[in-house]
Order: sequence, then C-alpha cells, then structure tokens
Amino acid sequence: MSIAAEKVREQLARYGLKMAASGLVAGPWGNISARVPKEELFVITPTGLPYGELAGKDMVVLNMQGEVVEGVHPPSSEYMLHQAIYRARPEVNAVMHTHSIYASALAVARKPVPPILEDLVQMVGGGVPVAPYARAGTPELARVAAETLGSLGAVLLANHGVVGVGRTLEEAFIVCQIVEKAACVYIWACLAGEAAALPPEEVKILRDHYLLSYGRHLLREAPFHRQGR
Ligand SMILES: [Zn+2]
Repeated sequence: MSIAAEKVREQLARYGLKMAASGLVAGPWGNISARVPKEELFVITPTGLPYGELAGKDMVVLNMQGEVVEGVHPPSSEYMLHQAIYRARPEVNAVMHTHSIYASALAVARKPVPPILEDLVQMVGGGVPVAPYARAGTPELARVAAETLGSLGAVLLANHGVVGVGRTLEEAFIVCQIVEKAACVYIWACLAGEAAALPPEEVKILRDHYLLSYGRHLLREAPFHRQGR
C-alpha cells in the first residue's frame, strides 16, 4: 500500500472521531471516505464498527469500480454512494454521510433546506435538495443521491440522513456541520414565521467569495488535495 493511501487511512480515523464527537452520528452509523491522491482509489470507513475503536489500519481501500483493494474489514455498506459521487464529481476529494438530527427531520418531511444563510450557501452553493427515497446501501440510493447532489455540496437522503462533500475532509466535515445548523435554523424560522431565502444573485456572490477567497484555508489542511481536478 502506498504512503499516500496510508496517510488517508490515518486521516479517516481522525475524522471518524471528530464526526462522532460532533454528535452528527450515533453509534457506528454514518461513513466517511477520501480519495487517494494521484491514484484511482478511495479509502472508506469499515461497516458496523464504532468510531472510537477505529485506527488507520481498519480503513478499507477501494478502486473506482468499487472493488476492495486492501482491508481487513468489509467496507461501509454505502460504498456505492461514495463511489457514484467520486465518479460524477472529479473535484470532490472527500465524502461524509451522517444521520444528524435536524437534517434527518427535514429528510423525513422531504423538505429541502432553502438557501437561507450565508455560511450555508458559501459551503454548499445553494440550498440542500432531497433525493427521492431509496433503501440504504443500494445502487439505487447511490444513483439518486449523486443525481440530486448535482454540482452542490450536500444532499438530504429521504427518510435517512445527509451527505456532504468537499475538496478536503475538513471541508466535507464542515459542510455536514453547516447543513445541520441550517436545518435547525430553518425549522425554527418556520415556527417563528416565514423563512426568507436569499436571491440567486446573492447566493452566487457569496459562493464565489468563498471559493475564491474565504474558503481557501480549508485546502491547506489537506495534503491529498489535487489541484485542478
Ligand atoms: Zn446512513
């Protein structure tokens, strides 16, 4: 196994702990993956094991056909979801899937998060749509999730949870946190009255500012980031 793949495995173990500590998942649910730089591979968390007990050696390496290249455990049951996103989005280097509470509430109500907050539209590029329902761990879920995600940074999975993507693991992690916060704010805003969405031209200005300036520091934390992908 290459040094690059070993580094990504260690990073995933760290982000598994961060994801669990953040409260975005409970128990072994949710999953995280990241590409291996300059190789047609990605690394994903194993299925059904608690994040607090995972080390780099427990992570599973797959090729872009979804075949296990190296690993002592089976990969996350959602490996096809991650694979579909990497195949559709060359610039995405990391994918995080969580079952966070407020995002899941909207996923159950099958209501998208409108583009309501500055940090949301900066990180996601707009609101967060809801993919049609498909059973967890199926090729159908992978297909509808990647299709509904489109060029955005996050998608809700009906009656299930949320997927956030990023150019780095740190970015995908923050996307999941921001989406959860926005889902909470949206629900409270609806209770307080009416939630006002930002107009498309404002969303574009905020997103461009994030991509060109404000968000650049998130790329420095990722030695596996590939420029120009
Ligand atoms: Zn799930």
